[in-house]
Amino acid sequence: MAEGKLLILGGTTLAVALAKAVAELGLSAVYSLAGRTQARPLPGMAMRAAGFGGAQALTAYLAAENILAVIDATHAYAGQISANAEAACQTAKLPLLRLENPPWQKRTGDQWINVPDISAARDAAADIAARVFVSTGRQGMAAFADDGRCWWLARVIAPGDDLPALANGRYLFARGPFAMRDELHLLSIHEIRAVISKNAGGTASQAKITAARELKLPVIMIDRPDGGAAARVDSVEAAMAWLQICLV
Ligand code: NAP
Repeated sequence: MAEGKLLILGGTTLAVALAKAVAELGLSAVYSLAGRTQARPLPGMAMRAAGFGGAQALTAYLAAENILAVIDATHAYAGQISANAEAACQTAKLPLLRLENPPWQKRTGDQWINVPDISAARDAAADIAARVFVSTGRQGMAAFADDGRCWWLARVIAPGDDLPALANGRYLFARGPFAMRDELHLLSIHEIRAVISKNAGGTASQAKITAARELKLPVIMIDRPDGGAAARVDSVEAAMAWLQICLV
């Protein structure tokens, strides 16, 4: 990418895989994180960890850093940054690609209850279970903080001041990928009776869905938000092919 850089909006396993592929090719790129948790270094890749300050500020960043293309590899549920990237790239007339895992598909034996958002997930769980595993990420934990209807076992990557105390529950701190055997053990020893999940797709957090199927537990699945209008691919290979076209 002569004279300019690629901006990767990250925070997912897929984004890390893309960053590694881009670094291996020796392309000039910046990997951006929201800065909520401690970033792991990516060899050969410049990194930044903080919000940009909204769509307008992102537009200014694109110009100041001589960004020539953007790949939005943020989580399927990180709607704000994706909307900002779309607006900023439109203003700056830059190519934008969305890289995301396809959603998991329901399989035989799955007992999924689909809900539109995190509050609906919490209420659906309270109707059917006393002990609930919540793996929806730190952003939504306020919905569970004062709710004593269930005992909430909430898994997030790391502690932080942004996490509200849970009146009836506890946090577990762990970073995926998670193994099926460990997920089965976790759900069993805590006598979990329902799982709340986003439909992240991919393999890093899929084991809890498989474990719930095996244990015949319901999964309250929060629907994906509208994915926006950017061109979309679901693999690092496809993103790299798109990048080759941007390079010429
Ligand atoms: P969000 O609601 O879409 O974003 C909120 C704000 O955080 C954005 O407006 C932006 O701030 C900043 N931001 C988000 N991602 C950023 C990035 N990659 N680089 C720089 N700034 C970023 O996102 P979220 O749901 O809070 O997720 C935050 C991060 O966690 C994302 O990187 C996402 O990939 C990752 N993540 C999210 C989930 C999830 O379930 N939501 C799950 C796993 C990982 P400014 O407006 O100030 O620029």
